[in-house]
Amino acid sequence: MAPAAALARLRAGNRRFTADPERPGSPGGSWSRRAGAQAPFAAVLGCADSRVPVERVFDQGFGELFVVRVAGNIAGPSQIGSLEYGVRQLGIRLVVVLGHSGCGAVDATVARLDDASQPLSSELMSIVDEIHAVALKEREAAPDAGSEELLRGVVRRNAEAAAARLRGAAGLEPLVSDGQVLVTPAVYALETGVVEYYGPDRA
Ligand SMILES: [Zn+2]
Repeated sequence: MAPAAALARLRAGNRRFTADPERPGSPGGSWSRRAGAQAPFAAVLGCADSRVPVERVFDQGFGELFVVRVAGNIAGPSQIGSLEYGVRQLGIRLVVVLGHSGCGAVDATVARLDDASQPLSSELMSIVDEIHAVALKEREAAPDAGSEELLRGVVRRNAEAAAARLRGAAGLEPLVSDGQVLVTPAVYALETGVVEYYGPDRA
């Protein structure tokens, strides 16, 4: 889609959105009330993938989730900082790291295990680098796994690795250690819509 057409589609969508605050998917109530303080009950670190709109996946509305999205749902410094804000300033006590099946960032990283000849920008490499060690370890642990199985494994381990990094972050670790905050990895299946949790509670 050409940029101008894409922008026109966004403009039209926002006109529909503002025209009727009570329509399904709109925030409801007056805009001035919605502009007040936020009090989300959970945070989610998700992938930028368009097929995983976090609020929709969990059937939550405006103001209910504090969502950080980045390709590959990695926990880099700015993602950790954002979630630290959500926990420390907004009082959130549950952080879900949401990987998903068919993740392009994971797929690209796994492909580079065998052939890293294609040059990537340093910014893209910063994402691949986060996932690379996980992918390597998973392949070593399951050398006979087929490509689908390997991808599934890396998606899960990547979410677990991001969750571990968040738990150990300086701004979160004390709260996680004394049980005030739970950080749990999870995986969303594009094929079924089901989210499976891999945290200590396995809720
Ligand atoms: Zn993804």
